[in-house]
Amino acid sequence: MRWTQSLIPTLRETPSEAEIISHQLLLRAGLIRKLGGGLYTFLPLGLRILRKIEAIIRQEMDRAGALEVLMPALQPADLWRQSGRLETAADVLFRVRDHAQKEWVLGPTHEEVITSLVAGEISSYRQLPRTFYQIQTKFRDEIRPRFGLMRAREFIMKDAYSFDLTDAAAQASYQRMFDAYERIFRRCGLQTMPVEADTGVMGGKLSHEFMVPAETGENQVAFCPAGDYAANLEKAAGAKPRRSSSEESPADLERFPTPGVTTIEGLSREPHGVPAERQIKTLVYLADSRPVLLLLRGDDYLNENKLAGVLGTPVFRAATADEIFDLLGAHPGSLGAIGVTRCPVIADEKLQGAVGMTTGANADGYHVRHVSVARDLPQVRWADLRTLRAGEPCPVCGHPLEIRRAIEVGHVFKLGTKYSQALGAWVLAEDGRQQPAVMGCYGIGVTRTLQAVVEQSHDKDGILWPAAIAPYQVCLTPLSVTPGQPVFDHALNLYAALGRQGVDVILDDRNERPGVKFKDADLVGFPLRVSLGDKSLARGEIELKPRNGSLQSVRLEQAEERILEICRMMNPSQPGIP
Ligand code: ATP
Ligand code: MG
Repeated sequence: MRWTQSLIPTLRETPSEAEIISHQLLLRAGLIRKLGGGLYTFLPLGLRILRKIEAIIRQEMDRAGALEVLMPALQPADLWRQSGRLETAADVLFRVRDHAQKEWVLGPTHEEVITSLVAGEISSYRQLPRTFYQIQTKFRDEIRPRFGLMRAREFIMKDAYSFDLTDAAAQASYQRMFDAYERIFRRCGLQTMPVEADTGVMGGKLSHEFMVPAETGENQVAFCPAGDYAANLEKAAGAKPRRSSSEESPADLERFPTPGVTTIEGLSREPHGVPAERQIKTLVYLADSRPVLLLLRGDDYLNENKLAGVLGTPVFRAATADEIFDLLGAHPGSLGAIGVTRCPVIADEKLQGAVGMTTGANADGYHVRHVSVARDLPQVRWADLRTLRAGEPCPVCGHPLEIRRAIEVGHVFKLGTKYSQALGAWVLAEDGRQQPAVMGCYGIGVTRTLQAVVEQSHDKDGILWPAAIAPYQVCLTPLSVTPGQPVFDHALNLYAALGRQGVDVILDDRNERPGVKFKDADLVGFPLRVSLGDKSLARGEIELKPRNGSLQSVRLEQAEERILEICRMMNPSQPGIP
């Protein structure tokens, strides 16, 4: 490709619409342009990158035995009604009507469509296992589309769905996809960390997310530096508490006045001076309209994802001050669970065996001290309710956990039979009985992956594309483009020769100053820049500059071979390079 014949509108200035570096660089490098919030056009170079990522995904999906299909993005709303997700996924669904007022959904994902397909086409265990995948456009009515391709309204996903007869077979399918994901991200030059994930509203059993550590990520991951454990903070489990070793006989409960104190912070200040970790925080929630008291250590925070699991329903909310007063006779800030038997009390496991604690007295302006949890709160049910904090012990080895922000690029999920039952994907088992197929679903945000690479791989001058997905591997830069002059002639010859060898090469044939060309090449992030100028050519040499390496001169007659060698080294699996 010749630069002058493409469309590569690089920008010097940082576009104000872009908050994070990867978004800025995709715009500045002329790879994408915005149409509207969460809607982007891929320009020629951006599309080349996307196609290369897709090619890697296809190869690895095929290698894992998955079958490619292509399903409609436009789907009958009735299908979503049948699975129950017309309601439960309502917040992300784009819904449209046709001229006859019939309702349709723009697919945010394809469990419904693939399961109904399988219900019609697969009927016997002999046809299993099967995994289907597609690379296709998804639509989600995100509340806050932002960060460019990271959270878009329309984006490209690779989604896959496995169907098995038994749970054990489904586990094997899950593992095959998990392994394929590791290979895909590695081949894209992206470092990812698989973490245990919340199964949430999908109703599944086992799930991992592939996370790219990044300050700008919207997720938080708790992980053990010893490598024993990694989980999304939404579900990261606290270590099981050791039984209390406290032998001290607890002092008697004592009620004391705390006028005007309504927060953990307030009680920790003088004159009371009760540190947050010696306080019990009491929260009141309504689950399916029934009240429940939640107890946490004063310095811990409730994790609502865990709460959903503990309550067995995602339908709950914090009670209002009035509702709380009706229930307990006090307002938030003076609440406690001592003696409360009218509603269930669930306490975070970290409180197990705690003594010398302070809690609200269920009377405005009063607290109670010398609380021994075992003695004074015998009615509580124990659960893991808190959001983990850095430094808490790893649930596997006890080593202090660390917390990092991360970008979710992929998600694998053991679904069970929820969709096969709802949509009739039953198969005949060997023993002659009908069984619902056991499913898994697997997603990679293809466009998000593309941007995550940039977030992970850039410097002050621009992007550093891993060779496997670079828009072009080599940017050939003659410093003069006058036809008939040696510099340009040699450049044209080398361009043709590299092309014949299957090297992905772009010729920067713009009549621009060298500085402009070099800046653009660095900004776009071609892995290797090859420049030809009068001075070095006079010595019979040209210059090679790997994007993240140092300048080297090679003899003109060795240039082709040396470039091929570098390309092979950078990307051993590149097809077309011998
Ligand atoms: P998130 O938590 O970021 O909203 P999700 O868990 O809803 O994502 P999944 O349903 O697991 O997403 O979709 C599979 C993959 O699709 C995600 O891992 C992510 O890479 C990508 N993805 C999801 N939503 C978007 C979006 N709005 N824009 C771009 N990519 C997305
Ligand atoms: Mg997800």
